[in-house]
Amino acid sequence: MTAENRRFLLPPIINRILTLLTEQGFAAYVVGGAVRDLLLGKAPGDFDVATSARPESVISILEPAGFTVVGELGQNFGVVVVHRDSQMVEIATFRGEAYGGDAHKPEQVWYCDDLEADLSRRDFTVNAMAYNDEDGLCDLFGGQEDLARGVVRAVGEPLRRFEEDALRILRLYRFAARFGFVIDEATEAAAKQLAAHLDCVSVERIEEELNKLLSAPKPGAYLEPEVLAFVLPELPPDDLSEAREIIDALPAGAEEVTTRWAALLLPLGEDGTRKALKRLKCSNAVIDGVSTLVKEKAPRTPALSLQAKRLLGKYDLHTVQQLTALWSALQPERKDEFTALQKEAETLTAQSACCRVSQLAVNGRDLMAAGVAPGPGLRRALEALLEEVITGRLPNEKAELLAFAAKFSAS
Ligand code: ATP
Ligand code: MG
Repeated sequence: MTAENRRFLLPPIINRILTLLTEQGFAAYVVGGAVRDLLLGKAPGDFDVATSARPESVISILEPAGFTVVGELGQNFGVVVVHRDSQMVEIATFRGEAYGGDAHKPEQVWYCDDLEADLSRRDFTVNAMAYNDEDGLCDLFGGQEDLARGVVRAVGEPLRRFEEDALRILRLYRFAARFGFVIDEATEAAAKQLAAHLDCVSVERIEEELNKLLSAPKPGAYLEPEVLAFVLPELPPDDLSEAREIIDALPAGAEEVTTRWAALLLPLGEDGTRKALKRLKCSNAVIDGVSTLVKEKAPRTPALSLQAKRLLGKYDLHTVQQLTALWSALQPERKDEFTALQKEAETLTAQSACCRVSQLAVNGRDLMAAGVAPGPGLRRALEALLEEVITGRLPNEKAELLAFAAKFSAS
């Protein structure tokens, strides 16, 4: 086993877990993404621990030391989740896996005592390293070198690894996009060759991976047509190259993913977008958010304040910000205009400017008291008042609005 004299500063809770397990004679390491992130000099999102201790031993060692066992994951297969001081850690027993024809779930899983077997079942070399203070870095597959070269490469024989679990095909593009890495040639060839196997993966997992892929800094180049054809068959391949550029021009990050979905699905129109996202079992909130962005077209006139008010009449500020970001990416030559539109919407919101009927200085009751008949006419009167106010022809003041409404009701 390759072990190196490297030392990382681990959080106290992790050190405590590793110490408690090793004191009882078990092997215990930080594994996977955390080791990768530490080597990249990034703060890991979470730390996963792998150990030779069976779940029942993990529990009997950690519980008396003040850890609360939150649960056992994966149908009890070997993952114990503990928490202490509001921090959660997953502790997985070393395991081996054998795959049948399912292309996602292992047919057999068994506990094993050695780290090597546990690391060799992991997907990519950069994700297949382990660390503890005593042994240093355990890098059996050249993960450190691949990290330094910026390469994502399958552990072992790529075709076999993607045959075992087709979800890894999407994970490949997700990790490469996240770090801006290139993909090892044989690994990519295998991914493309077996992309059709993605039909065995649940749409929930596919959606989760696509979300992560679309959140990457510049995912455009990693939206591989030969793979997308199987997870988003609705999307015409010819439209993809334009979408890739637009997506890269949009802000990155998980909270921005709605806008990137809209850029990707724009060619499908509102109905097509809804259908595709529904098939992927996205939440209604996501479906509504993305299809709103797909539907709403950029205004042609540069009447800044009026356009901003009209948009705020229909959408909340956040949606308006997403729309202006999308339009800027779609029409870069008008970027300044859309940035100004966004600023105007932010200012109007900060000033609580009147953009909706509900923000008028009069309500339906006021108008009825002033003689406007109830029913659809009342709604029309309120909308006419709003139009007067947002175009600046009337101030949003009760007396003036009532005077205008009286005229409206008389006509
Ligand atoms: P992130 O920061 O996105 O959580 P991660 O590397 O921790 O990245 P996870 O999906 O949380 O990714 O998985 C944890 C580890 O488990 C991976 O680093 C990898 O070693 C292993 N792993 C996860 N999913 C698979 C899979 N489908 N096939 C093989 N190994 C996997
Ligand atoms: Mg993780």
